[in-house]
Amino acid sequence: MPRQAYVNGRYTAHNDAAVHIEDRGYQFADGVYEVVPVYNGILVDEEPHLDRLERSLRELQIDMPMSRAAMKLVSRELMQRNSLSRGFVYMQITRGVAPRDHKFPAQATPALVMTTRQMKPHSAEVLEKGVKVITLRDIRWERCDIKSVSLLPNILGKQAAAEAGAYEAWQLDDDGNITEGTSANAWIVTDSDTVVTRNANSAILNGITRIALLDLIRAEGFQLEERAFSLEEAQAAREAFVTSSSSFVMPVTQIDDNPVGNGHPGLLTMKLRERYVDYMNGLKEAG
Ligand code: PLP
Repeated sequence: MPRQAYVNGRYTAHNDAAVHIEDRGYQFADGVYEVVPVYNGILVDEEPHLDRLERSLRELQIDMPMSRAAMKLVSRELMQRNSLSRGFVYMQITRGVAPRDHKFPAQATPALVMTTRQMKPHSAEVLEKGVKVITLRDIRWERCDIKSVSLLPNILGKQAAAEAGAYEAWQLDDDGNITEGTSANAWIVTDSDTVVTRNANSAILNGITRIALLDLIRAEGFQLEERAFSLEEAQAAREAFVTSSSSFVMPVTQIDDNPVGNGHPGLLTMKLRERYVDYMNGLKEAG
């Protein structure tokens, strides 16, 4: 069966899947999304992802297009149709179709699109070497906590990273502190082995991988600080890494032109990656 997508109540061939030209997602980026990783055929942290989806929608006064239980059923149906065991389910909800006008339409039915994508395991080489990040100014809006499809600054940042041969771009706020990457949260490990990541407020997206890793770090009893950290502190850090649904825990070994620590993936970073992978391996299908 060709790859399938789900569009507003129908399963359809991915290549033919389409939305209306007056969908407000297309015209205004008036919508939100989620990316739920799939590992060993299991949706990782599905509940927190759906919690965040519902929160993003609430903040924008968009209704859920269907019940949470129905969203779960569609995710599973799509995974089955696409034989997905490793990758992710993408879900996007917009305010719906209406004649173009900035203010909310009086009546619009939220539009829902769901797709899946397979993902290859990270290569041994990437994990042995770690990745480079560049830094640039954070030019995003003041509600980065909403997982909005309005991602222009993020894609410009990621493009700049790609052009510099880097994996990610870490964004700097007006105080010279790192907020996060363009599609991943930023972390460092200090000389005193304290794991540091930006506290979750409206300056960052509170990553679901971030939340899961915070729990694992606390369970292991490692020192942890959720606070802002500067570029200078990151450059002087012993280790650095990023987290996201597609990166899991990815060691960062270069920030701009400077090696992080000894230039190799950090020991604590790799231990945390292992713990996170163990955590995913231990997950079971709910119910
Ligand atoms: N920060 C941003 C801006 C993101 O876009 C993402 C993921 O796409 C993350 C952080 C990491 O979030 P998660 O761990 O839920 O994938």
